[in-house]
Amino acid sequence: MRLGIDLGGTKTEIMALAPDGTVALRRRIATPRDYASLLRGVTELVAGADSELGARGSVGMAIPGSESFGTKLIKNANTTWLIGKPLGRDLEQALGRPVRLANDANCFALSEASDGAAAGAGSVFGVIAGTGVGGGAVIDGKVLGGAHGIGGEWGHIPLPAPSIEEVKEAPLCYCGKRGCLEVWCSGPGLAADFQRVTGRTAGAEEIAASDGWSIFWIRT
Ligand SMILES: [Zn+2]
Repeated sequence: MRLGIDLGGTKTEIMALAPDGTVALRRRIATPRDYASLLRGVTELVAGADSELGARGSVGMAIPGSESFGTKLIKNANTTWLIGKPLGRDLEQALGRPVRLANDANCFALSEASDGAAAGAGSVFGVIAGTGVGGGAVIDGKVLGGAHGIGGEWGHIPLPAPSIEEVKEAPLCYCGKRGCLEVWCSGPGLAADFQRVTGRTAGAEEIAASDGWSIFWIRT
């Protein structure tokens, strides 16, 4: 049995895949808000899956950010309290088995390239826009991680062709720079920009559903 865990900004989900690829179990919890609670939460999810299925599964986890090749500490995570933490080592200790970590956007892109929306395509760029923005590149079925494991990430480059205001008043990003694409294009970024421009408060889904064109009009 293979256990896959998706650590998201708001929810964390475990799925068990049987040897034939069918989904044997799916459980979800709200993502804990600190590191110790996260370790506990994931340990409970895995223990629960093991006991429900009566088998000890192998564990892989999709995480925001990635593991540094050398130190194995987490970096580039928008769930910022993960940064600098030895997540893989701590989980292996807590679960008593090997744990494989991989960047969530890379997992998503690889999944879509394998048997999803991009099945059969040689070059795939998967884009995620949610609590943060991320992406993954898959070439000929292999993730293009690059020298630092962050290949395909587009969230921390500047807005293309920004206006003067968008440069001077660019919001601060958690990475320490100003005006990264993530502070404009993520759900919270879109909501904050909408609030700045219109003075109104709305979530990203509501904005996308009802006011897309008026935002465009106000900004131009
Ligand atoms: Zn940034």
